[in-house]
Parts: sequence; C-alpha cells; structure tokens
Amino acid sequence: MDQVEVAAKENENKAIWKPKNPWGAPQKETVPCSLTEVMSEQLAKHLQLEDELSAFPSTAVNNEPLITGDNIDTSSDLLLAQMLQMEFDREFDSQLRLEEKKYNGDSKVSISFENYRMAHPYDDSDSSDDEVDWQDTRHDPYGPDKPKTTPKKGFTGKGKNITTKHDEEICGRRNTARMENFASEFLVGDGIGMDLKLSNQVFNSLKQHSYSEQRRSAKIHEKKEHSTAEQAVDSKTRLLMYKMVNSGILEAVNGCISTGKESVVFHAKGGSIDDKIVPEECALKVFKTTLNEFKTRDKYIKDDYRFKDRFSKLNPRKIIRMWAEKEMHNLSRMQSAGIPCPEVIILKKHILVMSFIGENQVPAPKLKEIKMNSEDMKGAYYQVLNMMKQLYNECNLVHADLSEYNMLWHDGKVWFIDVSQSVEPTHPHGLEFLFRDCRNVSTFFQKAGVAEAMNAFDLFNAVSGLDVQASNEAEFVAAIEALEKINEDHVQKRGKKASFDQSDDGGPPIINDE
Ligand code: ATP
Ligand code: MN
Repeated sequence: MDQVEVAAKENENKAIWKPKNPWGAPQKETVPCSLTEVMSEQLAKHLQLEDELSAFPSTAVNNEPLITGDNIDTSSDLLLAQMLQMEFDREFDSQLRLEEKKYNGDSKVSISFENYRMAHPYDDSDSSDDEVDWQDTRHDPYGPDKPKTTPKKGFTGKGKNITTKHDEEICGRRNTARMENFASEFLVGDGIGMDLKLSNQVFNSLKQHSYSEQRRSAKIHEKKEHSTAEQAVDSKTRLLMYKMVNSGILEAVNGCISTGKESVVFHAKGGSIDDKIVPEECALKVFKTTLNEFKTRDKYIKDDYRFKDRFSKLNPRKIIRMWAEKEMHNLSRMQSAGIPCPEVIILKKHILVMSFIGENQVPAPKLKEIKMNSEDMKGAYYQVLNMMKQLYNECNLVHADLSEYNMLWHDGKVWFIDVSQSVEPTHPHGLEFLFRDCRNVSTFFQKAGVAEAMNAFDLFNAVSGLDVQASNEAEFVAAIEALEKINEDHVQKRGKKASFDQSDDGGPPIINDE
C-alpha cells in the first residue's frame, strides 16, 4: 500500500507541477462540472473495464497484469478507492486500539472506543457468517463456524458508553462514524477519519439524501452487478484477489486463461505463504457465483440423499464455495496417488489457487488441441488408462467430466484437471458417470488412431474391476443402473449416517432444489 501511496503522490506531484504562482495558490484550470457527471463517467469506465475483461480470448493470456503489488489497475477507480479505504480503515483501527489502550491504562473501568472503529463494508465481509474460508471449517467441513469475538475488557454490558442526544460532542462524532453505514456509492468524504462532529440535524438530512441516492442508483447498479457476475469477477472477487496479492501469497494476477460455464481461470505469479514457496506460475480458478451452473450440475447432485439433511439450508454462495472445496479435496487425493494434476496451493472462499500447468503464461494444450505423433498418442492412451485406474482404485473417485477437453498435455505427460464435479463410485450415478468418461476416452483415442484403445465397455470393466457383459450400449447401461440400484439399497440399509461418514469428502454437495 505504501508503494501505491508513493505512486499516487508522484502522480499528484507531476499533475500539479506548474510555473510557480507568486501567491502560492495553485492555479485552477478545471471547468466546474457536476458530481453526477463525474460519477457516471467513473461508472462508465468501470463498466468498460468489465467489458474488456469479458472480451479476453479464451486461450490467450493478456500480458498486462490486472492486479500487482506495485502496479494496481488504476483504471478501476472504484476498486482503487475500496483498496485505499480498506488500508486506511485498517490503519485507523490500529491507531484507535493504541489510543484506547493508552486512554484506559491499567484502570479497572475502561472506556471502549469500539463505536469509532471503521467497519469497512468489504473488509467486514471476512467475518460474516457466510464468508468462511475452508481453513475455518476443517473439522466440520461444511458447518458454519463463526469466529468468536474476544470479550471486551473492562466494564461491559448494558449502559456502557451512555450517550444522550444532548451530549453534542460524543453524539456528533458518532454521527460522523455512522455515515459509513450509508450506501457505499454515497461519498462521505474524509469526515469519518477526522474528528468531525456532525449535528443531528445535518446527519439526518444526509441520511435522507443517502437513501434517495441509493434508490436512484439501484437500477444502474443492478445492471452493473449482473454484468460483472457473469464474469465471476465482481468487485468482491477482485478485492479478494487483491488481498492475496497484498498479503504476498501472489505477486500478481495476470490475464484470464479461460472463461468457462462454471469458472473463470486466471494466470498468476506466485509469491509465498508463511515462508512456504508458492510455484512461480499459478492458476486461479474463480468459481462463478451465478446460479446458472446449478442447472448443468444438477445431475451430479440430484438424488444424493447422503448430504441432503446437512446441506439443504445452505445459501447459494456457500454452495459455490463447496464446489471449490470439492475440487481442492479431489485434487489433493489425486496428488497423493501421484496422478499428474495441479497442486493445490490455497483456497480462499470461491477462489482456488493451484499450480499452473504450462509455461511462460501459456497454458498446456488440451489433448483436443494438440497434434501428436502416433507414438506419443499411444503413450498418452496408456497413461490415461492407468490414471483412470488409479483414480478409481486409489482415490476412490470417478472424474465425471473426463474428455479430451479436461486432459492437458505437458512435459510429455497427460494431466487431469477440472475435478470439482468428481464423485465417489458409490454415488447413485457414479457408475454411469464412469461409463460416460470411458466412452469419451475410448472414442477419442480410437479416432486418433490408437489401435490398442479398448472400446468403452472393456475400458469400463478394466477401470472398475467389474465384469459387466452386454451386447449393446442400452443393455450395458441398464446393467450399470441395476448395479447402482443394488448399491444404493445396500447403502440405505446401513443408514444415512454411516454412509456419510464413509463417503468423507469425495461426494458432491447436495443442493436441495425444492
Ligand atoms: P469448462 O466449462 O470450459 O470446462 P471449467 O469451468 O470446468 O471450464 P476448468 O476446466 O477447470 O474450468 O478450466 C478451464 C480451462 O482453464 C482449462 O481448460 C485449462 O485450459 C485452463 N486451466 C485450468 N486449470 C489450469 C491449470 N492449473 N493450469 C493451466 N491451465 C488451467
Ligand atoms: Mn473444463
């Protein structure tokens, strides 16, 4: 942040460097214009930025970093303002804590300065109940676990900080502090940070004005939120990315590698966590916070009674985060089994940071895209066969979206990616998903001219160790469904609880769509 401030100062210095005025006053050349004009111009810029973001080609990487430690994308004034405000609030709060400490000393009765604390709307979201990082939920993976607030020392309870509306000074300060509760678009200036005392009358009329402004901008705001949510890089996500850069986990977030149906993937330059080295190149998978994907993912979660009781009350944002968690857990299982796949670095809410498969900001090609000689193609096939067996037998997982689009070719090896939807074989449709994976793999390698490639039926049996026999696909699928039914009855008999415990984290979360 210091660097930002220094950079801002430098710019300022450049901007105001003009022939000296003997009176010392800076020359004013700006034509006066209304605040609304400025605001809408800023909004237009902001929207344009979002549009540009959406226009990134899906495989090309934009070399200009979006967010870096020393070069923040200043074209987004709103974001910059939020960042500065956050940093300012933090500094203000720590100063306040010091003053509170100094003021109270060792006294048994202490005065809390709590009411003057800056609760920045964005930063504050960290502790709200639906914004819990997985680290917080490690023991109870999907249960809310609100961070406990440390008890205030000194005199607490009713009657603390008694304020009457006649106590002008305290009341005035409090009014100033309360301005931060106004809509975020409502510019309250620097008053909050200064010892400014607002009279009740002024405060009330400001409040009234804030409300009407809020209503007025609601429509425009709606549109803006919609367009950014489509990209999964709404202001909260961007701020989250910025925080990762600010805390040093990442050095910079670069361009977008891919915008899929369910996620947006960015390239990032790694930093370090607690002295642990983060890979030089990282991929940031941002799970989309729109609801569209539920439709396409429905098939993975429908009928999975195992999680129903537990997850039915979750809100959409928590569910999105659970998909991100799911991908993290599944990647970790694969990693332990030695299957080539991205290494998980960290999960922050709905952003999964993993190692980048590729080089110099260029992602490794998908099997779909690459032209391979027949020798390599044959090698790739045997690798995939082994990886599928390992995934099933050692990780107890079925990929459930395996195809030439989700296998990358890098370093002379095949890498599996995109495992947020992967399930355990005992999932009510687990074997059907496995068969579909087998059909995709088999078709791809047979078309690519690998004579050794098994057909889908043989591949299914080879991977699962089952012995399903049928003369055509319809019969084969029917046999698979019968197996699933037997398994389901079996699981149900043992009781929901037991099956949940056994299923651990491999099964998908359930969305109760009633
Ligand atoms: P889609 O809907 O296109 O399948 P998705 O939302 O399922 O996308 P992924 O398949 O995980 O997301 O990632 C999309 C693309 O981003 C991949 O096809 C790949 O090109 C790239 N990608 C994802 N993760 C990585 C990684 N760790 N390293 C390099 N590239 C990656
Ligand atoms: Mn994919």
